[in-house]
Amino acid sequence: MKTMRADPLSYLGAELGELRAKNLYRPLREMSAPQAVHTVIDGKPVISLSSNNYLGLTTHPLLVEAALKAVRDFGVGTGAVRTIAGDTTLIEELERRLAEFKHVEAVLTVQSGLTANSGTIPAVTTDHDLIVSDELNHASIIDGVRLSRASRAVFPHRDVDGLEKVLREARASGGPNGPYRSIMVITDGVFSMDGDIAPLPGICDVADRYEAAVMVDDAHASGVLGRNGRGTIDHFDLHGRVDIQVGTLSKAVGVMGGYIAGRQHMKDFLTQRCRPLLFSTSQPPAVAAACIAAIGVLENEPERIQRLWDNTAVFKKGLQDLGFDTGISETPITPVMAGDESKAQQLAARLFDEGVFATSVVFPTVALGKARVRTIVTSEHTRDDLQACLNAFEKVGRELRLI
Ligand SMILES: *Cc1c(COP(=O)(O)O)cnc(C)c1O
Repeated sequence: MKTMRADPLSYLGAELGELRAKNLYRPLREMSAPQAVHTVIDGKPVISLSSNNYLGLTTHPLLVEAALKAVRDFGVGTGAVRTIAGDTTLIEELERRLAEFKHVEAVLTVQSGLTANSGTIPAVTTDHDLIVSDELNHASIIDGVRLSRASRAVFPHRDVDGLEKVLREARASGGPNGPYRSIMVITDGVFSMDGDIAPLPGICDVADRYEAAVMVDDAHASGVLGRNGRGTIDHFDLHGRVDIQVGTLSKAVGVMGGYIAGRQHMKDFLTQRCRPLLFSTSQPPAVAAACIAAIGVLENEPERIQRLWDNTAVFKKGLQDLGFDTGISETPITPVMAGDESKAQQLAARLFDEGVFATSVVFPTVALGKARVRTIVTSEHTRDDLQACLNAFEKVGRELRLI
């Protein structure tokens, strides 16, 4: 006879109820058309302001063709982790091309930006080291720090003097196992929720003074900042001064994956110790091929990056002229601040009614009371698209008394 078994996880239902009551529940939306400016969400045609597809590469014909060819030549999967099944020539080529593009000795690719951070940080640090992290660093950096046995400290957001204070004290007093073997400063290059840029020249100077390594997560800068989208290190001309650059192939590059760029011996070490490489199957051939094609597009179609920044200027000014608070953004990531969680959710819901898809971002992605709708325009939005979005923001913003 079958007995009814009680659900040992029934508390999850109660916790979900609490999230809903606090306006912190985020529904998953269904997209039934390609990721592009005009797409279809939950059956409704919309203009999207909610992707990281900065340059429209998700649907670029050269990337699509490269992926299809790779499927025909190599099939759809790689069959095992790289150290067991071997590398496809496509991954080897991608890593060579990326290393040239980034002006570094070597690049290692993994499945995502998240695994690049969560795999690299614990691999390169031990309990004789200290990690010093910007307080607003991305969740995947926080995961990596949690997986590491190193001591940890945070410095106030983008505060070079605050960082120096932490480093000075750390060098003076050491850690639980004596003087630190190494100290690693970690920062996002572009912060994903506010769109502000890390003060990298100052960070590098201070790090040099205290003989600290520097790691920069350039997920939102890859394809966006620097010559041909080479990232923040190129933007600030700091080549050779940042020890570990993490980037993503999932945002402006339009496909999927993460990479770690730096010295050859760091790459070789990570092939022995980076757990996402050792214990998780490598990227499929179509992904690697599309990423190779994307590097070609970044090199050959820099006008996409110019259009991205032109559109950003137009849209940001439009929002500001309407009276919206767009925070401290310096990049195409433009938050529209709502403050209250329910207000941010109402703003997103009403924009959706008006045919604009811009999602609300609430705690824990941002602090409580700093809820917002986050927008990102792309190089592919036309001026008509941008005006249609601004019209919707104006109508809804007045309704909700945000302007
Ligand atoms: C998006 C993001 C990541 C994760 O990249 P994925 O390739 O999507 O896993 C890592 N770091 C930062 C700063 C990001 O914004």
